[in-house]
Amino acid sequence: MDWLDLLKECSRRMRKEVLPFFGSPDAAIGFGTGAGGDVMKKIDLVAEKVLIDVLEDHEASCTLISEETGTKKIGTQPSEFYITADPVDGTANAVRGLPFMATSIAVSKAPYLQDVETALVADLFHNVNYTAQMDKGAFRNGEKIKPSTTSSLEEAVLGVDFNTLRLGELVASLEEVLVRTRHLRHFGANALEICYVADGTTDAFIDIRGKLRVTDFAAAYLILLEAGGIMVTPEGTELNVPLAADQRAAFIAAANEKIYRTIKEFLA
Ligand SMILES: [Mg+2]
Repeated sequence: MDWLDLLKECSRRMRKEVLPFFGSPDAAIGFGTGAGGDVMKKIDLVAEKVLIDVLEDHEASCTLISEETGTKKIGTQPSEFYITADPVDGTANAVRGLPFMATSIAVSKAPYLQDVETALVADLFHNVNYTAQMDKGAFRNGEKIKPSTTSSLEEAVLGVDFNTLRLGELVASLEEVLVRTRHLRHFGANALEICYVADGTTDAFIDIRGKLRVTDFAAAYLILLEAGGIMVTPEGTELNVPLAADQRAAFIAAANEKIYRTIKEFLA
């Protein structure tokens, strides 16, 4: 099975079948709560169906771990492969027609983050595929990518996810970082924001809420590491979590060691 080819086909079919729902009133029709704990929207289910269709068309046997369905066996053969997916990352953007959303798919032979060996984050709206294979580098539409060398917070474009009910607590921990940062951003699809660090568009992305699901960042994790970036827990330890629909984590994603150390130094 050439997993990278299969993932690229997913991206092509997602563009054809999911993008028509982009910004349409139908996209937001709700269908109850998904395995990841959010309300499933029509656009999420359409995207997940495309992924399952492509897997079945290729007679792929695997365990699918998806934000919507949870864990599901695909195919008839016993298989060592796991597919960890967030069919639409940035659903809130997608239903409003805000052009920042992605499909995130990671392939591994064991259900742990560090075992992800093939990854795709597809920016459907802009027709950009971020891909990576273990030990083979990371690519943006086939061109090798690397993160920035920016080392100071004053110069950095820094992403932070502030979407939490415990905002006061979050801002208190980040205060020293925030006062030193001039270019603060949050675009609303974290898989893609991590890929922006990987290709040097931004310099770091901080999500220390502990709320982000592994289905959202499993693919982007390999892409950032293969590009040469850093993604660790806020304490600075390895980010190795099980691949499960309800698994969440906190992390700092950074372009290079210097900017990572600066962020860590100022983090309360
Ligand atoms: Mg999603």
